[in-house]
Amino acid sequence: MITYLKEAVSRDRVAADDDRVAATVRDILGEIRARGDAAVREYSAKFDDWSPPAFRLSPEQIAEIVAGVPRQVIEDIEWVQAQVRRFAERQRASISDFEVETLPGVRLGQRNVPVRAVGAYVPGGRYPLTASAHMTIVTAKVAGVSRVVACTPPIRGQVPAATVAAMHLAGADEIHILGGVQAMAALAIGTESVERVDLIAGPGNAYVAEAKRQLFGEVGIDLFAGPTEILVIADEHADPFVVAVDLLSQAEHGPDSPAVLVSTSERVARAAMAHVERILGDMPTRDFAAPAWRDHGQVLVVDDLDEAFAVADTFASEHVQVLTREPRRALEKMRDYGALFLGEGTCVSYGDKVIGTNHVLPTRGSARFTGGLWVGKYLKTVTYQEVTDRDSSALLGEVCGRASRVELFEGHARSGDVRVAKYRGEALAW
Ligand code: NAD
Repeated sequence: MITYLKEAVSRDRVAADDDRVAATVRDILGEIRARGDAAVREYSAKFDDWSPPAFRLSPEQIAEIVAGVPRQVIEDIEWVQAQVRRFAERQRASISDFEVETLPGVRLGQRNVPVRAVGAYVPGGRYPLTASAHMTIVTAKVAGVSRVVACTPPIRGQVPAATVAAMHLAGADEIHILGGVQAMAALAIGTESVERVDLIAGPGNAYVAEAKRQLFGEVGIDLFAGPTEILVIADEHADPFVVAVDLLSQAEHGPDSPAVLVSTSERVARAAMAHVERILGDMPTRDFAAPAWRDHGQVLVVDDLDEAFAVADTFASEHVQVLTREPRRALEKMRDYGALFLGEGTCVSYGDKVIGTNHVLPTRGSARFTGGLWVGKYLKTVTYQEVTDRDSSALLGEVCGRASRVELFEGHARSGDVRVAKYRGEALAW
C-alpha cells in the first residue's frame, strides 16, 4: 500500500507547460528554417543577450580562454575525462562486428560505423555544466566521430571558460557559444555559418529537449534528456540527513526538477522531509531547489522493498539512488531507470560530475525504452551480405520467387528467378 506524505502539482499544469514550450520551439525552428543565421542571431540576443561578431570561437580565442583557466580546474577536467574515457572505451570494446555463414557461401555481416558529424550540446543557462562536455564529446571521440561541433550558451553574458576548456580537452573540432533552441536548430538544419550535423546529443532544459524531439528525423538524436530527476529508495537503515541532502542535490538543477522519495520507513521519510525544509532555508541555490521541491517533490511510504522497487519502476526516473541495507537487490528487481546509484558510498552527484558513467540520461519516463548516452548512441549498426555459392544463390532465388509472389511483388520475384535460371540453367517462365 502506498501512503503519500507529499504529492506533486497536477499533471494538467505540467501538460499546459509542455504545450507552451512546444509552441515556442515550433515558432523558433520555423523562423530559423526560413531565415538562417539572421534568426539565430535574433534569438540569441533575445534569450541570452548574446550577439558577438561570430558564435564560433577561433583557435586563438580558444587558446586564450584555456590559458586563463586555473591549473587545478584543468587538472580536474583531465582527471574526470580520463574516468569517462575509460568507461567509454570499455563500452566500445563490448560492441563487436561479426560475419556469419548461414548457408554455404552465404555470408551475413554486421558493422558498427560512427556517425560522421555530431552536435554536442553542453547546457549553461543556469549553471555552466562543464561535465556535459566530458559526457558528450569524450564519448563521441571514443566512438570514432570525426567532426564534433560543441555548443554552449553564454552564462550571464560571459563565455564559460571552464566549459570551453573541457570541450577543447575532450577533442571538440568546433566550439560555438550558442545555446537553447537556436543552437539545436543551427546544428540540425544548418545555416550560412554552421554546417549541419547528422546527430545531436546532450542534455538541456525543457526547450532544448523539446527542440530535439521536434527535429528528430531530420537529424538523429541521442535521447530525450530534459530536466533532471531523482528518486531515492530508502529503508529504515538510511540516514535521513543523507537522503535529504541527496534529494536537494538534484532539485537545485531547476524549478522543474522532480525529487521523489520512496521509503519503507515513515520515520525515515518524515525525518528526511524535515531536513529538506531546514537545509532549504539557507541553501545558496534555493531559488531553484525550493520551487522544485514544493511543486515536484513527492514522498511515498510503502510496505516493503519489493513494493518500493516496483513503485520506483513506474516512475522510470532518470536517477535512482538506493539507500538500503542491500542496495544491489535493486539490480535484480528494477528495470526502468537511467542510472542506479547503489549504497550510501556513492551519490548522483558523483555520476553527474566525476565517477565516469555518462550523466546524459533519459527523463520524463523515457527510461522505459532507452538507456542513457553511451558510445553505442554514436554508432550506426549496419549490415551487409554476400553470396558466392551458385547453388545457395539459386536456392535463395527459388524461395524469394515464391515469397515475393505471396506479397504480389512480381519485380522482386524476378530478381530471384533470373538467378535460378542462370545458376541452374533453367528457362525463365516469363
Ligand atoms: P540550457 O543550456 O539547457 O538552456 C539555456 C537556454 O534556454 C538559453 O540559451 C536560452 O536560449 C533558452 N531559453 C531560456 N528561456 C527560454 C524561453 N523562454 N524560450 C525559449 N528559449 C529559452 O540550460 P539550463 O536552462 O540551465 O538547463 C539545463 C538543464 O539540463 C536543466 O534542466 C538540467 O536539469 C538538465 N540536465 C539534464 C541532464 C540529463 O541527462 N537529463 C543532465 C544534465 C542537465
